[in-house]
Amino acid sequence: MSNPCLSCGACCAKFRVSFYWREADDETPGGVPLILTEDLSEMKRIMKNTGGTNPRCAALVGNIGESVRCVIYDKRPGVCRDFMPSYQFGVPETACDNARASHGLPPLKPEDWRFEAETFPPVRSA
Ligand code: SF4
Ligand code: SF4
Repeated sequence: MSNPCLSCGACCAKFRVSFYWREADDETPGGVPLILTEDLSEMKRIMKNTGGTNPRCAALVGNIGESVRCVIYDKRPGVCRDFMPSYQFGVPETACDNARASHGLPPLKPEDWRFEAETFPPVRSA
């Protein structure tokens, strides 16, 4: 079992992904690649292709609900870093559940995160 987000991607094709303009790499070295953004307002930018009625972030590759990847994962905006998948930390998250539902996917369950315990077993003190 792997990270369930890698076989989802629904939240990257559900919302307008907006963030403070200075997160982009024209202002912040190593920040969100400007070429993958669009201007929204004086203070905000959005990820390219998330401003319309059928959003799908330009940084998302793969097939939603099957296999996906964010090509700027280490440089994604804070709003993406803050988005919480259901049960990653033990509680359901409505936004995640709604994004998945809009793509015909069931909500995540606690057991979908079991891989973390298998991959990163708890450190035991001697
Ligand atoms: S930047 Fe990456 S994590 Fe954020 S919406 Fe786009 S594909 Fe998803
Ligand atoms: S909708 Fe939830 S499960 Fe799917 S990629 Fe986003 S956070 Fe992960």
